[in-house]
Amino acid sequence: MPQSDDTALILVVDDEPEIESLYRLRFRKQIASGAYQLHFALGGMEALDVVKKHPEIEIVLCDINMPGMDGLTLLPKLLELSSILQVVMVSAYGDMPNIRQAMNQGAYDFLTKPINFEDLKKTIEKTKKNVQLAKQARISKELEERNANLLELDQLKTLFFTNISHEIRTPLTAILATTEQIKAAPDTWIEKGIPIIERNGHRLLDLVNQVMELRKLESGKPVEVQLFQGDVISFVQYLLEPFQPQLEHKYIQLNIQNDLPDLIMDFDPEKLTIIFSNLISNAIKFTPAGGEITVAMKAQAAALQLSVSDTGIGIPAADLAFVFDRFFRAASFSDEGGTGIGLSLTKELVELLGGEISANSQEGEGSSFIVQLPIRREAEPINIEQLKKTTPSVRPVQESIAFWGPNDERPRLLIVEDNIDIAQYLRSCLENEFLVHIAWNGHEGIEVAVENVPDIIISDVMMPVKNGYELCDALKTNPATSHIPIILLTAKADEGSRLEGLEKGADAYLAKPFNRKELNIRVRKLLELRKNLQLHYSSIINHPSGPAEVRNQEDAFLWNVRKTVEEHIDEENFGIAELCRAIGVSRTQLHRKIKALTNVSTSLYLRAIRMERAKKLLLETDLNISQVSYEVGFSDPKYFSSKFREHFGERPSDLRKS
Ligand code: ADP
Repeated sequence: MPQSDDTALILVVDDEPEIESLYRLRFRKQIASGAYQLHFALGGMEALDVVKKHPEIEIVLCDINMPGMDGLTLLPKLLELSSILQVVMVSAYGDMPNIRQAMNQGAYDFLTKPINFEDLKKTIEKTKKNVQLAKQARISKELEERNANLLELDQLKTLFFTNISHEIRTPLTAILATTEQIKAAPDTWIEKGIPIIERNGHRLLDLVNQVMELRKLESGKPVEVQLFQGDVISFVQYLLEPFQPQLEHKYIQLNIQNDLPDLIMDFDPEKLTIIFSNLISNAIKFTPAGGEITVAMKAQAAALQLSVSDTGIGIPAADLAFVFDRFFRAASFSDEGGTGIGLSLTKELVELLGGEISANSQEGEGSSFIVQLPIRREAEPINIEQLKKTTPSVRPVQESIAFWGPNDERPRLLIVEDNIDIAQYLRSCLENEFLVHIAWNGHEGIEVAVENVPDIIISDVMMPVKNGYELCDALKTNPATSHIPIILLTAKADEGSRLEGLEKGADAYLAKPFNRKELNIRVRKLLELRKNLQLHYSSIINHPSGPAEVRNQEDAFLWNVRKTVEEHIDEENFGIAELCRAIGVSRTQLHRKIKALTNVSTSLYLRAIRMERAKKLLLETDLNISQVSYEVGFSDPKYFSSKFREHFGERPSDLRKS
């Protein structure tokens, strides 16, 4: 029997056995030509079985009145089985209530008995057309879904390329910058520089290896597992070593919990290195300074359970299910850098080794990743010391960096950068003219800036805990720090992120990789701008003397100071400490801000406010000099006169004579 797309695949459900021969007789031509293919069932249950066995059936001619399962009960079950199936109800003439009910339940059409086969033929034709429409709709829906999936994958890939470019640019910048240093000053730099280049070269290699490893796993070809038998506990401890400096510089406490002094088992050192290093470096990356990380190892039911837990930022509940997906990075932290391949690679490797990995997390409290690996002892034994020689450690070694010295008059530069080599390069470019402090992430940067009010800030954009935009936002809206020029460093040289930075108040942008000259020009330009600001504010005439004159944050700050001092102007004891308390800033913040804006010390500035008021009183009122001196907080008119003269170059009495 020929069958094509045009064949109507029909199931006839009727409890009268002779119906089959009747159909076969009346439709013999259609059956012979392949236009119809008929199936028969004598009841509801049988009908369901037939449809399950022949999911290609498109049209059901269904009797309503049958013993056992009747047509009305069968109808919804049939529709549930297939989205293209069309049901035509067959019932006695006059059985309108049942027919109506069937139509309301989703039957496509109905016929009445005795059957008019000419009418039935037309009904089948019409129904077949509807089946085709339903099929097309299903196909386009599938296509749509596939398209959406492809689009999503495409976006993920773009994101991946952006991220990986960032990850590549940073070590490349360090390498290029260091070679520049070596060229410029070979004697001082050759020794310092080579380890930097090596480290960053390894970091690049690491990245490429991860991508290659992933490709290998994806290609579907079997990936080789190379097992050795040895003490896995001391191997994991060895893997922790290179992370010590990073832990130290973030003040993260590392706890190691081992149930056993050692555990001899088979493991693949290379794969375990990737697995463990990914987990520990994520834990460090997503744990703010001062947090804790716990590495625990125990043997449980023939499996090694290795867990890495942190007290970091955690993973939002809605994201937890996706952390092992390729290219996934929790959206809210998408500016921290990273490629989103670490965990998916980790999971694939764990599974390749016959293990399992799972994650628990509480947003804001921390995360823990648990790896279970089967304990077997079949491979060739190997000594851990031997292994250490052949398995390279993973991450760059970090060095600590000095803090600002206390009594140095050089302008203070704050570098906020999570990559130690870039930070050191920046420092080496600028340390002759500046006192440099380095903060390792946006959060730390904000804290240092607010406390110490530096003269200029250079900040990376992509950083853990808080990114460069957040830093800009926080500092530019804080009255104590709003005046500090900020240069944002970024690998994202595109216009969009540039605008975002400028919107958040960044004063300049520098795209990585940058060179020393460019950096120096930017810094110099910003400091010149700051000088102009100082020039403007160095004359108290330019300070707002009423709320209507406040035009920007700096005006607002100075107006706040002035208003507060003027409110207490007759109080001799109202000094810097009282002012700080009244306006809610620390002494350092007040000093550094006033110095930055006006280039004078706070005490001189307060004196100037008192003197301006005194001058005004002398010129505009009849108060005598002693009264004026009490009015502006001087209990000794003589002392007042001498300070007045110091300030204006003339005595109070000179003003009165004219
Ligand atoms: P990435 O290179 O972005 O770190 P991973 O695959 O290693 O890629 O991690 C995917 C994402 O899972 C991260 O971007 C982060 O959002 C989240 N994540 C992984 N580990 C942790 C952790 N310890 N704490 C908080 N979030 C984490």
